[in-house]
Formats: sequence, structure tokens, C-alpha cells
Amino acid sequence: MSDSFVLSSETEAQWAAVRKALKAEVGDAAFNSWLKPVVLAAVREGQAVMTVPTRFMRDWVVSHYGDRLRELWSGANPEIHSVDIHVKTVQARRGVEAQPVSNEAHEETTAEAASAPLPVSSATRPRIEDYENRAEVFDVGASLDPRFTFDNFVVGKPNELAYAAARRVADSPSVPFNPLFLYGGVGLGKTHLMHAIAAHIRDRFPERKVLYLSAEKFMYQFIRALRIKNVMAFKQQFRSVDVLMIDDVQFIAGKNTTQEEFFHTFNALVDQNRQIIISGDRSPSDLDGIEERMRSRLGWGLVADIHATDYELRLGILQSKAEQAGATDVPVRVLEFLAHRITSNVRELEGALNRVLAYSNLVGRAITLEGTQEVLRDLLRANDRRVTIEDIQKRVAEHYNIRLADMYSARRARAVARPRQVAMYLAKQLTSRSLPEIGRKFGGRDHTTVMHAVKKIDELRQDDNILSEDIDLLRRMLEA
Ligand code: ADP
Ligand code: MG
Repeated sequence: MSDSFVLSSETEAQWAAVRKALKAEVGDAAFNSWLKPVVLAAVREGQAVMTVPTRFMRDWVVSHYGDRLRELWSGANPEIHSVDIHVKTVQARRGVEAQPVSNEAHEETTAEAASAPLPVSSATRPRIEDYENRAEVFDVGASLDPRFTFDNFVVGKPNELAYAAARRVADSPSVPFNPLFLYGGVGLGKTHLMHAIAAHIRDRFPERKVLYLSAEKFMYQFIRALRIKNVMAFKQQFRSVDVLMIDDVQFIAGKNTTQEEFFHTFNALVDQNRQIIISGDRSPSDLDGIEERMRSRLGWGLVADIHATDYELRLGILQSKAEQAGATDVPVRVLEFLAHRITSNVRELEGALNRVLAYSNLVGRAITLEGTQEVLRDLLRANDRRVTIEDIQKRVAEHYNIRLADMYSARRARAVARPRQVAMYLAKQLTSRSLPEIGRKFGGRDHTTVMHAVKKIDELRQDDNILSEDIDLLRRMLEA
């Protein structure tokens, strides 16, 4: 059919009624995203023929609204017993023929005529270019920090797997594994590696479209698209990239609509063999508040974790950062001292070094160990009692080979309940948290539960050597 096909006013009124009824059923947001762009092309031989601008939309409309469209059409015009939805782009690209939607039950619907003008002429038809142009207007990606490169990333035992995986993805012209999932605690270099990958690909494969952003920004963009009724543009934007990188995916835990959208984006890209790289603060299987199907998909490719730093890595990082800052006169003793004492994460380590450098610069004195201790007094104190309940839970879960989530879960099976008690016991011993505070961190348990756990483990330790050794070992690891 051609663009100049003329619809009778009767047909137009029927179409308006169908649209109006659908809009009432599915709501404004879904209607604007999916149904508004549907254009009626013709009614012939008992069939309503409609077009949409993309194949993706065709599939979505057919699977979600196909039956309803047919029913409503039959209600508006009893002669119509099937609908056909196919792709029609404005470019000369061939339309893809869709299978007619199945046609069974009829339903009587009282249709009211709508007054809205109908988008039947090509002038009012939503065109794919419109979406694409609009999509470019909003800035979806985040900018890259030029300091976060592979060259500036110091590799050691705790991060060698993550580094190797990141390099492989960045160097490879194809998709070596999908997705790459990088995870680790805060300040351990996830964002650094993500930026390094993005910068490297942009440099080496400038024709590949790389989109990097945080999960938070993804959500923000999505919600904004919903609000300004621009979901198509949003989808087009995200589905048109070669490499999609989402940082801090844990952010969308519990945010169901965003998660759903992310899941579809993820699947669409994987189907097209586009590279996806994701970071999170824990492994896919430990991501609470993320749907099971999503969690399992996140673990399909390569999952690489970044462990807490060890002394050597910290020293290496300090040397590298001092060098980059042009500070060649920092005594080795000072670097070693910092590497020993600032163990929380790389961000703090960097912050400590910067403070020392800034101070010496400011007062015009050479850096000494004593001066360093003076300048960093508060930070050092904070690092002294740095064992957190989260650390304890993580270590204990690893040690007993249970899911981190079981530290908060309600499961009472001995296999998880005992390790949980051990973790509560250590939390009481190694942190200054109160019993109610500890209880809260274990899935909102009561302080009496914590008290009971502490007592229980104390008792068991008397006779159970293995348990006792486990606890000593865990304590040493946590205090290391
Ligand atoms: P995350 O995203 O895991 O919270 P970041 O990537 O933001 O952590 O890292 C925090 C800081 O530590 C950044 O300034 C980063 O450059 C630095 N950093 C982390 N790991 C390394 C490393 N292995 N080598 C050099 N710098 C590092
Ligand atoms: Mg980060």
C-alpha cells in the first residue's frame, strides 16, 4: 500500500475508537510508547493493516497488544476478523512482513468515536529518524575520566583476573564473553577498569559505538523517558550501541520497572551479539533485589571479582601514584607505612597520599614519617577499627561457602544458620556495634537473636576445635 492510501471517515472513526479503548486499558505511558506510533495503513478483506517504524516495536506490539487490537477492531467493525502489523520505515529499507495475528474469539466492544486527528498521512506519522534525532539530543552516556586508563592501573594478585578480562574485552574485535561482569568492594577499581575499557575501545575501534553510564543514570534516563513520553527514543538509543557498559548495577536492585527495561535491553543486545560490560558491588548470585532470571543472565559470561588489596598491590599503587604526581622525593618508609596502615580501599589510599603531598607542598617541608602520621591522624584511627559487619559477613559467607544473601535471609537451615551465628559473634567481638545494630545488619533481626548467637558460639567453641580454629582464622583474616 502507498502512503497516499485514503481511509474512509468511517474507518478512521473506528480506528480512533480502537485507540481510545486501548489507551484506557493500557494507560498513557504504555500507549505513548507502543501504540501511539502504530499507523493504520488499510482495511481490506476483513483485515486491519497497521504499520510500526521498527521490527523491535512490531514484535512488542504483536506479542503484547496483538490479540487486544484484533478484538477491539472486531468490536468496532464486525467485518474485521484479523489484524496485520508490519514494519514500515520511512527510509527505503524493506518493510518486514509480519505474520497476521491469530484470530479466534470475537468480542463485542462498544466503541466511542474519538475526536483526535488520526496520524494517517506521512506528515504526522512518527518516523524513525525523529526518534533518532531526538535521542541524540539527550546526553545518555557519562564522560570518561582521562586518568582511568589501563596504563595507570596497577595490577596485582587481587585484581589480575579482572584486569585480564577487561583487557581481553577491550582488545578483542569480537565478543569474547558476554556479559563481562566485574565485581568487588567499593574503591577497588571497578570504575577505573570500566573507563579504561571504554577509552581503549574508542581509541582502537572508533567505529564501534560505546555507551558507558552508571545504573543510576540508566534509571534516571529511563524514568525521564517515561515522563516525557520518549521511551522509543530511549530504547533506540540503548539498542543501537555496540558496547554497553553499566557501572554499579546493584543500584537498580529493587527498582522493578527499571530492571525490567534493563533486562529487555540486555537481551536485545546479547541477541545481536553486542558486548555488554557490567560492574557491581557483589557477584550476580549475591545481588539481592534483582530478579532471578536477570541474575542468572548476568552470570552467563565471565564473572571476575576484584579482591581486597594486599600489601604489595597497595605499595605498587602508591609508587605509581606518587610518580604520576611528580613526587619523587617521598621516602620509601612513608609509602610502606601507608601501604600497611591504609587498608580499606584504593580510594582512601590515594586520598591519604594526596593529603601528605599537599601538606608538604603547602608548608614547604620534606615528607617524613612523623609528619605523615600527624597529617593522617584521623584517617589512621578510622582504619584501625576498620573491620565492618559487611566485611565479616562476606568473609564468613566465603569461608562456609554460602551465599552472602543468607546472612540476611530468614532461612534457618543449620548450614546457613550456624555461619550466620559465627558472623554475629565476630561482629560483636571485632566491631563496636551494639547488639540491636548488629541485628539490623543481619536482615533486621532482634537483639536477643544476636545475644543468643554470641552465647551459643561461645559455648560451642569450648568443645569444638574445628569451630574454634575457624573463628581464629576468620578473625586473623579480618584484622589483617
Ligand atoms: P570502584 O569503582 O571500585 O568503587 P574506582 O574505580 O572508583 O573504584 O577506584 C577508586 C580510586 O582508586 C580511583 O581513583 C582509581 O584510579 C584508583 N584505583 C583503584 N584500583 C587501582 C589500581 N589497581 N591501580 C591504580 N589505581 C587504582
Ligand atoms: Mg565505581
